Amino acid sequence: MKRIIGNWKMHKTVQETVHFLEHVLQRLSPEEVYLAVPFTAIKEAAAFGIHVGAQNVSHEPEGPFTGEISGRMLKDVGADFVLIGHSERRHIFQETDDMVHSKLLRAHQVGLKPILCVGEREGEDREAVLKRQLEHALKNCDEELALRLTIAYEPVWAIGTGKTATPEEAARAHAFCRNMIGSLFNKEIAAQIPLLYGGSVKSDNIVALLHQTEIQGALVGGASLDPKEFVKLVELSKSVV
Ligand code: PEP
Repeated sequence: MKRIIGNWKMHKTVQETVHFLEHVLQRLSPEEVYLAVPFTAIKEAAAFGIHVGAQNVSHEPEGPFTGEISGRMLKDVGADFVLIGHSERRHIFQETDDMVHSKLLRAHQVGLKPILCVGEREGEDREAVLKRQLEHALKNCDEELALRLTIAYEPVWAIGTGKTATPEEAARAHAFCRNMIGSLFNKEIAAQIPLLYGGSVKSDNIVALLHQTEIQGALVGGASLDPKEFVKLVELSKSVV
């Protein structure tokens, strides 16, 4: 089954979240809905029985870190996964590879499933960036963490720009990530980790992307905000086997 995960970024109040879910759950079952919502909407979204994620987590467990949110707090309100290392965190908020690594460990420690985001900026050497980001993020991680991991390949130049990697280009990047994971862990683990593509995915390009066997789903920003478009994306993903 291909998986669609919405990333709402800094959009939607609690009431808007409830309206969205009332609409989409007329067409989809809660188990098919994966959304990374703002912190403030996690509890209400979780009450619908969907898979709810946060978009960030502190690498610290607790303490004097004004404005941060801990993994325990996220679990407490019903989050079951968390995006880590999204390009907006890396490039707007200067999250380093080391911070991404610490966040990954912290998320795993509290039982949040990590979705590790990786991807190159325009003009960067894709494979060099993917290698660096994956090696740093996953250094000294155990197999148990690896088996709970999802990786999202998101070329930064495709996020929110309307430009998408071609399905073949995305599949090559995914194959590269899978090989890297194989060398960091082993081939059996690499074969089990879902790899999602992200970057301007919409209902008119998702099918071609998901037809690539290397692509197990999509992380969707802008197009996940509209309930009709979100339902369409999930329904289209179900049509691809
Ligand atoms: C994202 O935020 O992860 C993303 C892929 O955004 P968009 O779909 O809007 O490009």
